[in-house]
Amino acid sequence: SHDRLADIGVVGLAVMGENLVLNMEGKGFTVACFNRTVVKVDAFMSGRGANKNIIGCHDLKELVQALSRPRKVMCMIKAGEAVDALMTALIPLLEPGDIIIDGGNSHYLDTSRRVLEAREHNILFVGTGISGGEEGALTGPSIMPGGATPAWESIRPIFQRICAVTPDGEPCCEWMGEGGAGHFVKMVHNGIEYGDMQLICEVYHLMKAGLGMSNEDMRAVFSRWNMGRLDSYLIEITADILGFRDEEGTYPLDVILDAAQQKGTGKWTVNVALDVGQPLTLIGEAVFARSLSALKDERLAASKVLAGPAPSGMDVLFEDLEQALYAAKIVSYAQGFQLLRAEAQEQGWALDHGKIARIWRGGCIIRSAFLKNIESAFSENPDLVNLLLDSFFSEAVVQAQTGWRRVVAAGAVSGIPMPTLSAALAFFDGYRAAVLPANLLQAQRDYFGAHTYERTDRPRGERFHTNWTGRG
Ligand code: NAP
Repeated sequence: SHDRLADIGVVGLAVMGENLVLNMEGKGFTVACFNRTVVKVDAFMSGRGANKNIIGCHDLKELVQALSRPRKVMCMIKAGEAVDALMTALIPLLEPGDIIIDGGNSHYLDTSRRVLEAREHNILFVGTGISGGEEGALTGPSIMPGGATPAWESIRPIFQRICAVTPDGEPCCEWMGEGGAGHFVKMVHNGIEYGDMQLICEVYHLMKAGLGMSNEDMRAVFSRWNMGRLDSYLIEITADILGFRDEEGTYPLDVILDAAQQKGTGKWTVNVALDVGQPLTLIGEAVFARSLSALKDERLAASKVLAGPAPSGMDVLFEDLEQALYAAKIVSYAQGFQLLRAEAQEQGWALDHGKIARIWRGGCIIRSAFLKNIESAFSENPDLVNLLLDSFFSEAVVQAQTGWRRVVAAGAVSGIPMPTLSAALAFFDGYRAAVLPANLLQAQRDYFGAHTYERTDRPRGERFHTNWTGRG
């Protein structure tokens, strides 16, 4: 019925898929769409999708036939086996050079595998991270594509039109690399998101339980911070949440059950860190903080048994809290980019850290003014080993440590847990330590397991063993 072929097809008309279709259409593209449960296609076509350059299709064949070549089919469906099933159904309908794009939250190793599987059929497979939730999908998300590189020139005009833009007007979508590089970057983005959120929660906890501040006072402080170097989406919505009252004048925040849920991308990120031996301590603590919070009943019982310190005044300034938040955030991103580097090396990807920081500046949950400084650091020095060694960040973190240490100390003394703020500080002190107590650790290993050790006064690589017990 349509006289023109569609620029792209979208499979999966749940909230993300629908919003992406509308975003693309609004930017001037003709979009074909399909959903497994076909009544959803009709519902969409007579609802939000009505009277637009959208072609509703009732099976995959119809969808494929509606597309201009090379065909681009974007899947916005549940991650996991559903993607494999859809791929299996799609491939026989496509021609060499056609493109399948998976925009769901797939694991990057699945994406790497799918790129290879599709290649056997001369199909170009792209796995792309999309951040920004429902709202972002509709108005402009941050898009992190990777996979079969020849697909990039075909999808770039669409993706760089529908994505968010940075405050400098650059698109928040760049090609990340081969295989699962795009989904990997998205996964680390989500891990960093866990860290950013937990850091804010700890500062909130200290203000509320330690300083006894009202929601309104906390809102004012977060709003003020949002005008400075902490300027970010998550600080902004925190201020909104703290200021929000319902019709009865009560704060929903005050009655929300303190048991966090998670969908698993934080855990994935930490798993990779453990696998490649990277100290991703802050995000690790953020994941565990959610796990601990979820043990609500156990915590309730423990709260009646395990007494903390007697309440005492807390000598912490707002400025200290701001410094703690900023310094720990620097550590979190330093750790996150270290993980990006380590796993990229493992996978043979050439990730561009400056580009990654740039495409996170708009559209996504972790967007912030701070990412501009990260972009600059990596643009100036693409081989920068650790963000903490960049002069801007090293000066910032050294300068902020006074307040940061005061906050962590105050939390420890008054019994307010600060898993990420303190893990970040421990990392900072460990990373800047020329000498750590691992000499003793190596001695212990050699003592009970004859694991041998190297010596500081001999060349690296030479192994020594001591007969610690004098027994033969
Ligand atoms: P979703 O709830 O994750 O998935 C529902 C969609 O998947 C429906 O269209 C459903 O079709 C389809 N589906 C499920 N199993 C299928 C199968 N075996 N074959 C074909 N289609 C199947 O939807 P969503 O929240 O819109 O998210 C889509 C993807 O984007 C997910 O991977 C999600 O993780 C990711 N994502 C979501 C967000 C977000 O904020 N929600 C943000 C970024 C990324 P039926 O209608 O037939 O069941």
